[in-house]
Amino acid sequence: MENILLIDCNNFFASCEELFNPSLKGKAICVLSNNDGCIVARSNAAKNLGVPMGMPYFMAKKKFKNVIYLSGNLKKYSEISKRIMKKLYDFTPSVEQYSIDEAFLDIKGCLNCHKKTPVELAVQIRKEIKEEIGIDVSVGVSKTKTLSKIASEIAKNQIRKNIQTKTLGVYEINENNLDKILENTPIQEVWGVGSNLHKFFRKHNIINAKMFVKLDDDFIQRNLGKKGLELKMELIGIKAYQVIDYYVAPKSISKSSSFKEFTTDKAYIINELNGHLHRVCIKLRSHNLRAGVLSVMLRTKDFRVDSEKFVFDIPKDSEFELYETMHRLFNFLYKEGVIYRSSGVTVSKLTDKEDIQLILFESDADKKKKKLSNAWDKIEQKFGYGAISVGIKKKKEEEK
Ligand SMILES: [Mg+2]
Repeated sequence: MENILLIDCNNFFASCEELFNPSLKGKAICVLSNNDGCIVARSNAAKNLGVPMGMPYFMAKKKFKNVIYLSGNLKKYSEISKRIMKKLYDFTPSVEQYSIDEAFLDIKGCLNCHKKTPVELAVQIRKEIKEEIGIDVSVGVSKTKTLSKIASEIAKNQIRKNIQTKTLGVYEINENNLDKILENTPIQEVWGVGSNLHKFFRKHNIINAKMFVKLDDDFIQRNLGKKGLELKMELIGIKAYQVIDYYVAPKSISKSSSFKEFTTDKAYIINELNGHLHRVCIKLRSHNLRAGVLSVMLRTKDFRVDSEKFVFDIPKDSEFELYETMHRLFNFLYKEGVIYRSSGVTVSKLTDKEDIQLILFESDADKKKKKLSNAWDKIEQKFGYGAISVGIKKKKEEEK
């Protein structure tokens, strides 16, 4: 039975902007990443003009002059996302939010009480979200998460290309169409196939998903291990991945963004990194976690990625404990004269804060820093994100 649904909001950030300002409907609009670095969402009209995803804003505004560019407002989008996610629990208790605008649903246990087929239920979910929240979603219906993901992409394309179907915005992959769809799905478009896996497939001349599932299990096991076999199972309709409807602590937390313009400016990049670190730490504390590893990443204009990490003896969760290390990593990575396009901060090797042993080793200075961070959280919860920030204190001679 096809009982996994993927709900995916169409052009989510752009749709939210249309919701706030209906005069934007039907127009070519692009939403920009924080500090207006690059394009992170496009309306269908902008997609049809050929505006590429991820293009830096300063380039896009020269090339596509008739597009309306809007600064992103993640806080507003998160509020709409929360309303959509909450709505999904009306249909099943088994909801896994996968990203700000996507969720997997397992509807196995509740089809009887809804007295509907999976596709009928998907149509109803789509309709209610549109009517009550105002956001257009696509729904993929199938036996596994991986197939539902492919199905939702097909549904989305049908909307964009204005292909009229009986269940517009909903697409089901079942045993009748599975074979044809696997053949029509380029292997690199399958969920979970990253650039490394794609390289392997290219080397072995595997172009589409059908060619992959035809491979011998032994061959897959030998070359790609368990992950490869799971991918094959998922693609032939055997569940390897469950819908995770319980809390799982994150394994790592990252924040990154493109710069407003390509830059060589050291102070500007440090300021950006300070912002990332703060947001990473907010998230760490909200999950009650501490970080054992801190990594800093710089991406150059020609997409080379330079990164460096530091491993702590005692895991940390306060900006004030991490700033110094971050700056040291940055100074190591930064090269005079190199043009950079983006930066990022990642923390990993996360452990639970409640681990009593850690606290025993904590110095008084560290405790003070923690208190400072907690106070910062409270101020921002009251007055909003960015109410205060850490500045770079210039040395006396630089001030002249
Ligand atoms: Mg989406």
